[in-house]
Amino acid sequence: MTARILVVDDIPANVRLLEVRLLAEYFEVLTASNGADAIETCENSKVDVVLLDVMMPEMDGFEVCRRLKSDPATSHIPIIMITALDQIADRVRGLEAGADDFLTKPVNDLQLMTRVKSLVRLKTLTDELRLRASTTRNIGIEELLSRNLAADDLKPKVLLIDERRPSVERVQKMLRNRVDLDVATDPHAGFFQAAETPYECVLVSTGFADFDPLRLCSQLRSLDRTRFLPIILLAEEGEEERIIRGLELGINDYLIRPVDQQELTARLRTQVRRKRYNDQLRASVTQTIEMAVTDGLTGLHNRRYLDSHLQTLFDRAVARRRPLSVMITDLDRFKAINDTHGHDGGDQVLREFARRLRKNVRGIDLACRYGGEEFVVVMPDTEGAVAEKVAERVRAEIASQPFVIGTQTVEVTVSVGVSCVLKGQDSVAALMKRADLALYEAKSGGRNRVVAKAA
Ligand code: GH3
Ligand code: MG
Ligand code: MG
Repeated sequence: MTARILVVDDIPANVRLLEVRLLAEYFEVLTASNGADAIETCENSKVDVVLLDVMMPEMDGFEVCRRLKSDPATSHIPIIMITALDQIADRVRGLEAGADDFLTKPVNDLQLMTRVKSLVRLKTLTDELRLRASTTRNIGIEELLSRNLAADDLKPKVLLIDERRPSVERVQKMLRNRVDLDVATDPHAGFFQAAETPYECVLVSTGFADFDPLRLCSQLRSLDRTRFLPIILLAEEGEEERIIRGLELGINDYLIRPVDQQELTARLRTQVRRKRYNDQLRASVTQTIEMAVTDGLTGLHNRRYLDSHLQTLFDRAVARRRPLSVMITDLDRFKAINDTHGHDGGDQVLREFARRLRKNVRGIDLACRYGGEEFVVVMPDTEGAVAEKVAERVRAEIASQPFVIGTQTVEVTVSVGVSCVLKGQDSVAALMKRADLALYEAKSGGRNRVVAKAA
């Protein structure tokens, strides 16, 4: 993992200390010795995480944090506040100022690396989402993303796996009203519960009488359904070895008991955000793919999809010596419908036509909007004679029931050309060409009819 970390502290020795440790882990390090410089650096260079000292003359860490978080240009940069030990009030102020996490001086190495890495991962995701939001503006993903990113205040669904009652009660109390928390006191039951419920984070205690908590973590990591479920370990002082093992196994973060409420909240928030962004990103990829192959007006596949799949269906039919038919439909005198009822009225007719078309073909048939008022249906495993019957059914369904546009009705008819794959030499282009010729004959023969090119 490489990332650019900005270290802000007014004492040069402190800066140097953190810098050395971060450089040793191959992070790129920028430094600033006061708040104004820190803000300027964030505005002008790409910073992935800020390590921010609280106590600084002139502008203190809280003020720097508040300013960075209130500027849209820098608000997405994660901030780790470095507070003096036992300054609980500082952590509360830090949270209020928008800090993402805390470290206490003297900074422990493992904690430093875990916090930084966890926030760098979060930053990578938000960067990707922001990029997508800006490059896909034209197809409405931006709205979709901002709507979902705003769901940050949605109560996270969290599972606590811990067999010690007092500890459970303490965590419950800390998270009351902030988190939708379930508890499993038996680790085996907890594992199944995590697999069956869509949790956004799981807190695993290390304090079981005779059960290895890391076994649970590794099981959660190996199961498909929980592979991406964030895990935070609740460990004891002196369990560094176990925590390191846990981090190697893929746990996302840890807390040392006695658990501090602010830390727990901050760490949970980071993990839940990361999970939500991740889910969102995956959904947006799926949606981009769907949008690329779907016709927005009718919800049918578009021409691009047809072009990429027809060849596959054709090859498969030929290889298996199975029949395959296509029909091309074209609405009759559609221009006149537009002229009389307006473009929106025309769109309504197209939508209703698509609905009736879909209703009259099978699920495995591939129905597409080929362009304007032309639609194509590819019918696997279908002989020409059967395809002709299907086409006739579609034609009749359109002609028999007038279409409704607002308060008006309009008679719509459709012409259809049908062709099927020929034994011997044939190709997709020739198949489509024959259907097109058939359609032309249907038009010139008087419209509202089906013409099939005999095999
Ligand atoms: P024909 O019976 O010979 O097919 O006559 P037609 O008027 O249907 O044929 P033509 O191809 O001349 O006109 C098709 C019309 O479809 C022209 C175009 O403005 C309209 N059209 C194409 N796409 C859309 C659309 O998405 N919405 C609407 N409302 N109209 C569309
Ligand atoms: Mg037409
Ligand atoms: Mg046309």
